[in-house]
Amino acid sequence: MHELGYRWQRNHRGQYVDGHECPDVISYRQNHFIPTWTQLEPRMRKWLKDGVTEVPLSPGVQPVTVWRHDESTFYANDRRQSGWVEKGAGATPQPKGEGESIMISDFVSPEYGWCKSPDGKECARVVFRAGKARDGYFTAEDILAQTAKAIDLLSKYYSDSDHVFIFDNAPTHLKRAEDALSARQMPKGIQEWGVDATVMDSAGKIVRGPNGKALKKKVRMVDGNLSDGTTQPFYFPESHAHAGKFKGMAQILKERGFNNAEKLRAQCKDFKCKEGETQCCCRRILFNQPDFINVPSMLETLCKSHGFGCIILPKFHCELNFIEQCWGYAKRLYQLYPPTSKSVDMEKNVEMALESTLIKCMRR
Ligand SMILES: [Zn+2]
Repeated sequence: MHELGYRWQRNHRGQYVDGHECPDVISYRQNHFIPTWTQLEPRMRKWLKDGVTEVPLSPGVQPVTVWRHDESTFYANDRRQSGWVEKGAGATPQPKGEGESIMISDFVSPEYGWCKSPDGKECARVVFRAGKARDGYFTAEDILAQTAKAIDLLSKYYSDSDHVFIFDNAPTHLKRAEDALSARQMPKGIQEWGVDATVMDSAGKIVRGPNGKALKKKVRMVDGNLSDGTTQPFYFPESHAHAGKFKGMAQILKERGFNNAEKLRAQCKDFKCKEGETQCCCRRILFNQPDFINVPSMLETLCKSHGFGCIILPKFHCELNFIEQCWGYAKRLYQLYPPTSKSVDMEKNVEMALESTLIKCMRR
C-alpha cells in the first residue's frame, strides 16, 4: 500500500497541526520537561521486553510511579474507522450521527493499570456525558476534584511508592487560581483593590446568579515571593495608616528595590512596550519578576501540597503520553462489541473494553 502512495491513518477526521518545533515548545521541552524526566527516570520501575519481568531498583531507592492522565470520548456508533487513506488526502467529513458519546477521564500506570484500589471497589475514573443538557463540560474544577480523588486513593493503598501525575498541555490543566499573582489589572497607587473570584458553595460547586452566570466576589491577591524566600504582602498591615488597602505597583516595586518606581508610568500605551524593554513601566517590571512568571497551576499546587509530582507534557506531544495507546487498544475492543442503543449498555461496553486493556500490553 505504501508503494501505491497510501499511508495507514487511525483517525481521518480533524486537522493535525504540528507545533513540535515552535520556540516556546522547544524551550519548555529542553529546559523543563526533559530535565524533570531525567531526574525521575532512575527511580521508575522498568520492564524487560516480554512485558513482565521487572528490573529491580537498587536497595533503598523509593520507586516512582508515573500516572498518565487523559480524557477520551467513545461514540455509540463508532465501529471501525481505520482504513487506507490516499497520501495527501485532507480531512474527510464523516456522516453525522456518531450517536451518544461518553467521555472517560482516567489515570493509568504501567505498574497498576487504571487508578483503582487493589480490590477494584474505589477508582479515580470519571465517566462523563459531554455536551449541553447532559453533564456540561469537563472543567478545571472537575480535573482538580478527580486528581484529589486519585491522591487520596494512592496515599491510602500505594504509599510504598512516590507518585507523579502527567497531564496534557490543556488550558483546563494549566488554569491558575483566581487570586494568583498577576500584574495585569493592578493599579499603580494605593487603593481598595482586589481580584474577582468565583463564589463556591460548601460542596465546592460554583454558585450561579439568576442569569446563570457564576457569582463573583472581590478577594485579596496572594502574597508575592521575594528572591530571598520571604513573602511580600500586597496589602498594608492593620497598624498602617492605609490598613487593608492594596499597596499599588509603585510601592510593591519599591519594596523590591526599584526606588524610581514612583516616577514610572503605570504601563506603556495598551501595554505594548517597546520590544526588549524591561524597565519602561511598572507593569512590565512586575510582569517579569520571577514570582509573577512562575505562578503554579492549581493542579500543580494541589499535587505538591500532598507530596505528589505534577508534570505537564510539552504542547503537541501527546504521543509521549502512552495512555493514547491504551485508548487505542480499548477502542479497538469497543468497536468489536455489538451496536448499542441504550446508554447504559454503551457505558457497560466502554467499561468492559477499558478493563480488558491489559497491564501486560501497557508495560511495553
Ligand atoms: Zn512598558
